[in-house]
Amino acid sequence: MFYADAMTGQEQGVMTIRAVCLDIAGVLTDSGRLLPGAREALQALDDAGLPWRLLTNTSRRPQSAILAELAGLGLNVSAAHLFAAPRVVAETLRRRGLRPLLLVHPDIRSEFSGVDCHDPDAVVLCDAAEGLDYRSLDIAFDLLMQGAPLLAVGMNRYFQGRERLELDAGPFVKALEYASGVTAEVIGKPGRAMFDLACASMGVSAADTVMIGDDVDADVLGALNAGLQGVLVRTGKYRSGDEQQLPPGATCAADVLSAVMAVLNR
Ligand SMILES: [Mg+2]
Repeated sequence: MFYADAMTGQEQGVMTIRAVCLDIAGVLTDSGRLLPGAREALQALDDAGLPWRLLTNTSRRPQSAILAELAGLGLNVSAAHLFAAPRVVAETLRRRGLRPLLLVHPDIRSEFSGVDCHDPDAVVLCDAAEGLDYRSLDIAFDLLMQGAPLLAVGMNRYFQGRERLELDAGPFVKALEYASGVTAEVIGKPGRAMFDLACASMGVSAADTVMIGDDVDADVLGALNAGLQGVLVRTGKYRSGDEQQLPPGATCAADVLSAVMAVLNR
C-alpha cells in the first residue's frame, strides 16, 4: 500500500502517491495491441483504491474511438477516466469565445462541434497528418501575423506508428512559432492544463500524483513542471538512453505494471 504519512514516505525515499495519471499509447497500448501488464496495472490501482486518469495527446481519433478501442482490449475505462487533449482544446476555445482556424484531423472535427469557426481569430494545431500541408500552414501563419493566438494540442516530436516513428504535431507548431514569432499555448501535455484538470477531477494535489508515460518531454517533464511526480516506462516510443534526460526525482520502470507496483510500494 502507499504511504499515508507523507514525511515517512519522503524520508525513506519512497514515493507518496494518492493518485495516478497514465499515458495510453506506448504505456497501455502499442499499435492497437494491449501491452503486457496493462490490464493488471489498472486492476492493481483499483484494488488499492487509488484513483487514476488517462491523459493522451492523441489527436487523430475522437474520444469515443479511444474509449471503444480500450474497451475492445478489455480495459475498463469510462469517459470520466479519460482526458484527451483535443477535447480539452475545444473546451478552452468555448470558454474563451475564440473562433479557430482548425488544423485538425478530419476524424476529430466532431470534437469541435459547437465551436464557431467563422472569421477565425485563433489557430488550433493538432496532429492533422496530411492536413498539415503548405496551404493550411500558410493561412495559419497569416492569422498569427495578424495577432491570433496559437493553441497547440501538444509538442510531441513523434509517436510510435504501426511500423515506425511518425511525425507528430510538435514540429509543425515549432515551424509556425519560428515563422511568426508567436509562442504557442500548449493545452495538452506537457502543458499544465491537462495535468491540472486531471488532478482536480480526482480531488488530489499535483504533489500527491504521479504521471506514468513513455515520452520524456510530454509525460515526465510536463508532469514535473505541473508539480506531479514522474515515471518513464521503457515501452512504446522509449529509446535506449532516454532516461539520461530525466532530472533528479523522476524514475524509470520497465513497463506500466512495474511502475504501478513501485507506486504501490510492493
Ligand atoms: Mg505515449
